Amino acid sequence: MLNFIPDNPYILLTPGPLSTSKGVRAAMLRDWCTWDADYNESIVQNIRRRLVALATKETENYTTILMQGSGSFSVEACLGTVIPKSGKVLILTNGAYGDRMVEMVKMLNIDHTKVDLGEITAFSAEEIERLLTGDKDLTHVAFVHCETTTGMLNPLEELSKAVKSFGKVLIVDAMSSFGGIPMDIGELGIDFLVSSSNKCIQGVPGFGFVIAKRDELEKCAGNARSLCMDLIGQWKDMEKTGKWRYTSPTHVVRAFFQALDELEQEGGISERHKRYCENHRILVDGMRKLGFKTLLPDEMQAPIITSFLYPSDEFEFKPFYEAVKSKGFVLYPGKISQADTFRIGNIGEVYPEDMKRLIEAIGSTFQA
Ligand SMILES: *Cc1c(COP(=O)(O)O)cnc(C)c1O
Repeated sequence: MLNFIPDNPYILLTPGPLSTSKGVRAAMLRDWCTWDADYNESIVQNIRRRLVALATKETENYTTILMQGSGSFSVEACLGTVIPKSGKVLILTNGAYGDRMVEMVKMLNIDHTKVDLGEITAFSAEEIERLLTGDKDLTHVAFVHCETTTGMLNPLEELSKAVKSFGKVLIVDAMSSFGGIPMDIGELGIDFLVSSSNKCIQGVPGFGFVIAKRDELEKCAGNARSLCMDLIGQWKDMEKTGKWRYTSPTHVVRAFFQALDELEQEGGISERHKRYCENHRILVDGMRKLGFKTLLPDEMQAPIITSFLYPSDEFEFKPFYEAVKSKGFVLYPGKISQADTFRIGNIGEVYPEDMKRLIEAIGSTFQA
């Protein structure tokens, strides 16, 4: 049925945009009117409700705001709307995406404390307790769940519990984990979770979303530092009719709706998580057999993207990349300062069979 949609020339094993299904790509092939109920009610409001239901069982306590732009726009909109002028945010970082949040609050003139653990150490509850005990001015805490820089999975449950035991407002960048790793943000006490269209939900790039605790969101009116990036402004309009304040990326939104259907067909987040874990296991076992080593120990590693160390000082990524690409797989360069690495993602329209073919392709290219 979808034979008219061209095949991709290669699989994207990157942290996003990802390889998407033909169904998702086909869903973009018609136009939509942004004030008609066919779009606003049947697609936008439906997406907003389904995102809340994917995030928590406590659906009445949460709401979703969709926001134009890539994922970072939603992170910035969230920080800029949620933290009041009198607030102070603790940002825990162990990679580029945590660092990006620090850049954002600096740009927005938001009072903050940055705690940087480097790139290969996860945060702990004790660390948070020490920091929050030491500075009573802190009102908010923000961190990244899966730090896509390395593939580090920060311990969400433990960290959230610590933040909530101090009664602070919690903002989590779950960009590369939401939809791929089961969680209940109501149980965890997360006040604001940010993710985007082109990660584990497997849509195409073009918008992000914030899943917010209603009563915390309602407190944020008047905080925003930017008109376009005001989550409250966007939320109030969307809440009424499903209309986005300014032009919405209609085709991308329709593709996302299809991606949500396909997530359901797969069996929901728990089944998708199983597939990602299986992809990841085949990847890591296979790479180890070929002589490669992972940057992180297994207990810190998310089943999303994995950093591999260069096997020797002589190793050159570019020719390796080109050779593997010619066999149908696009890898990703490393992004860290502490060691030479490259990364291989295993999320998106990617299955265990693909990972087996990848290992064969890498094996025939290179033995570490
Ligand atoms: C992808 C990603 C983002 C957003 O990046 P964009 O390039 O703006 O989409 C933010 N945080 C994390 C952890 C990510 O993986």
